[in-house]
Amino acid sequence: MPQSITPPPATNLPGVTVIGQRRPAGSTNPFPTVSTWEPPVIDHSTIDPEDNQGLSPCDDPAQREEIDADAAAAKFMRMVAAAIIASGESFATREYGALLVRQADGSIEVVGFAPGPGGGYGPPVDLTGINPADVVGYVHTHPSGGIISGPDWTEVYAYLYNQGTAANGDMTNLRMYVGTEVNQYEASTRYLHVWKGGNWGSTDPLYEVNQEGQPCPGS
Ligand SMILES: [Zn+2]
Repeated sequence: MPQSITPPPATNLPGVTVIGQRRPAGSTNPFPTVSTWEPPVIDHSTIDPEDNQGLSPCDDPAQREEIDADAAAAKFMRMVAAAIIASGESFATREYGALLVRQADGSIEVVGFAPGPGGGYGPPVDLTGINPADVVGYVHTHPSGGIISGPDWTEVYAYLYNQGTAANGDMTNLRMYVGTEVNQYEASTRYLHVWKGGNWGSTDPLYEVNQEGQPCPGS
């Protein structure tokens, strides 16, 4: 018999719908995480020990995609941090960008990670060798602060939109992530915000993403 199960509190706060690895923009609450989730104790004699009764958000395909996309964006931010150290530049020096792309094994990876030319410009979006249908997000940094810009919508998002099949043809499923540093040279003031495609042109982020986020187990 399965024992009574207590769901993880971070995903089941009353009245709060948790999406991916995000907290409301401006919030100081802890981020919901995957890594702290542990399967409930179950009777192994009658139940598959791998079965967590469907309570992990990773068991829901839609949630799993948000979690894995957030994790890939978080990985991008760590790649930016490493690139800054390697180049001797700062977050403020130039933009970095990458696509988040669904892989054949179902995971989501950072693809085409590149620095921009500087001067407030990001690297061009390069779909060489990428099936646009597999693109689930675009992530870039804003060295000069600010969250998301008009050209991000009218150029980058529009470009992917015009591919026809980006995000498998459902642009409401295309995520735009922007990393910013509020106080330059202070990595502790670095933020990662997300817009879900479909709120075209909105400049206000609804959610901040955990920069330490990890993908679902098995992703
Ligand atoms: Zn931008």
